[in-house]
Amino acid sequence: MKKPIFYTLAIGMLLGVLSCNNNSNMKNEAIVPAIDLANMDLGVNPGDNFFRYVNGTWMKTTEIPPEFSQYGAFTILNENNQIQLKTLVEEVSAKKDAPNGSVSQKIRDLYNSGMDTVRINELGVKAIENEIAEIESINSISGIQKYIGQVHHKGEYPLFYIFSEADQSNSNMEIANFYQGGLSLPDVSYYLSDDDRSVEMRAQYLDHLAKMFILKGDDDAKAAEEAKTVLKIETEIARNSKTRLELRDPVANFNKMSLDSIVQLSPNFDWKMYFTEIGLPDPGEVNVGQTEFVAGISNLMQTIPVDEWKTYLMWNLLDNSANYLSDDFVNQNFEFFGKALSGRQELQPRWKRVLNVTSDRLGEAIGQLYVEKYFPPQAKVRMVQLVENLRLAFADRIKNLDWMTDETKVKALAKLDAITVKVGYPDEWRDYSSLKIVSDSYYQNVLNSREFEFDYNITKVGKPVDKKEWGMTPQTVNAYYNPTHNEIVFPAGILQPPFFNKDADDAVNYGAIGVVIGHEMTHGFDDQGRQYDKDGNLNDWWTEEDAKRFNEKTAKLVILYDNYTELDSLHIDGKLTLGENIADLGGLSIAYDALQKAYNGTIPDKTDGFTPDQRFYLGYGQVWRQNIRDKELQRRLKEDVHSPGDARVNVPPFNFETFITAFNIQPDNKLFIPVEDRAIIW
Ligand SMILES: [Zn+2]
Repeated sequence: MKKPIFYTLAIGMLLGVLSCNNNSNMKNEAIVPAIDLANMDLGVNPGDNFFRYVNGTWMKTTEIPPEFSQYGAFTILNENNQIQLKTLVEEVSAKKDAPNGSVSQKIRDLYNSGMDTVRINELGVKAIENEIAEIESINSISGIQKYIGQVHHKGEYPLFYIFSEADQSNSNMEIANFYQGGLSLPDVSYYLSDDDRSVEMRAQYLDHLAKMFILKGDDDAKAAEEAKTVLKIETEIARNSKTRLELRDPVANFNKMSLDSIVQLSPNFDWKMYFTEIGLPDPGEVNVGQTEFVAGISNLMQTIPVDEWKTYLMWNLLDNSANYLSDDFVNQNFEFFGKALSGRQELQPRWKRVLNVTSDRLGEAIGQLYVEKYFPPQAKVRMVQLVENLRLAFADRIKNLDWMTDETKVKALAKLDAITVKVGYPDEWRDYSSLKIVSDSYYQNVLNSREFEFDYNITKVGKPVDKKEWGMTPQTVNAYYNPTHNEIVFPAGILQPPFFNKDADDAVNYGAIGVVIGHEMTHGFDDQGRQYDKDGNLNDWWTEEDAKRFNEKTAKLVILYDNYTELDSLHIDGKLTLGENIADLGGLSIAYDALQKAYNGTIPDKTDGFTPDQRFYLGYGQVWRQNIRDKELQRRLKEDVHSPGDARVNVPPFNFETFITAFNIQPDNKLFIPVEDRAIIW
């Protein structure tokens, strides 16, 4: 299921553990230094490259392990989490007598069925023979549409997504949402652009498609034709799709429509049959995220013949199954999505991949065990306290803004006050009792889980929103702001060093987790989030004048990032990353002020030769420590709404006088920003 409107701290990552890293036992006892001086490169002038000043020696001495496309603070924390999760899953798996239907049985059997490569490899493509036969038996456009409804109900999403979520104009109620989809390449530009990388990716994609059809059992000539058909259809779908930038406009992507209006807009797709097939014959009003896309589907149903649709659906089946099938499928899938697109060199060890699936599919079941064993209750208490300090600092900043009228300030303060905070793990855990997990079929388990998730989600339509629910599992190393809930959420997984370090001084913690908190709060006031009111409804609460001033300020920030060069001539897209960049900037200003409040006039002495102001920015800079492969960087510049780690460290601090002073930055330093170009917003 897609959650397009969550604003996260960092891109979702499927990461694993370094196999040479066996420090799982010492983890809880070891004191992690607040700032590890050995990671810094003091030979770099902080004004020329603050990212390298903070992380340079680590970068020079750390190679990206072959299985990763990037490696850094997030990855390393994920690695530790995975070792902990593996311990948990193995403990559970050792319980041979777990009652059938219990959570232990499910964790054990899902994990073990995924590790049973003998059986999986023996089965090969036979694992999906029923699904293949089903597609082959389709003989009409109506049959194509019926099939799409049926597989959506099974949690597989050819062509588009359907899911329940809070109504953005009545945020206490759930409604059905339609969202564009149907593409396997991760961005529409890969289909439509003629830049070198897109052309190269299309060629490699065609090759990959053909190889997957050959693995299915088709001969070379037929597979080559099928590959072309898939690319042709997906290119048509891409032409009807919005770009990532266009998708960032919440108002333009919110269109509540009755079923009858959808039928009018898209007459060649049998929407009534579709909604019946997914178990929602009377969906009520649906948010049609992208109306042009819905209309486009209707046209494609007329122009693309049945046999070609069947090829497209077959590809979707192969693509969505590949990771759960025999090694030949897994390896080919990795050749394209791992190597060609992200520059990974090696597939992760199987246990990590299966663990990721288990941790994802049984997320809160494992999360419950995870927090019981690894999440200290004191961390939650301290975190809640920190959040409230940040909230007070943010309120003061809003009151003192010189560009906002009092009228809008009152509403901004009310929204800030209304933000709810979730820390660590949910108060109520999810019930997995109706999910059936068997011991002898990994693929079947994945199918069962997908359908379980789909039903769980879609049955919410028309009901009140459960605001206690979480959108991330506790073991996730990330955080998010959800605009319809007006809430900030910090899973247990991120409340560890270098983000949250119980042994670190305040300056470093405010620079790290403090900025993370401020970042998530600021999402409620970034270019997207500001369009939602305190109750989570899309509702413009800004005066025209204030909105104009806000846009003038953000335009400056767009320029700062547009001008930041990453790789050769590749630049960051300042508009695509605007919301995240506003959040980073806001996070720094709010956390810095909160730290001063915590000091209450008594500024500590230097530690390790650094002043508290310096340590605040060092704490921030080390969170984004990473090395990244060129291909991954290229991919992210196109797809990720977050700026790359180096830019997150090399742009925002240079807007603050406290930083300029702390590190004695001079106008002739490479990253210096003239006062008139700086962009402090919140
Ligand atoms: Zn964010």
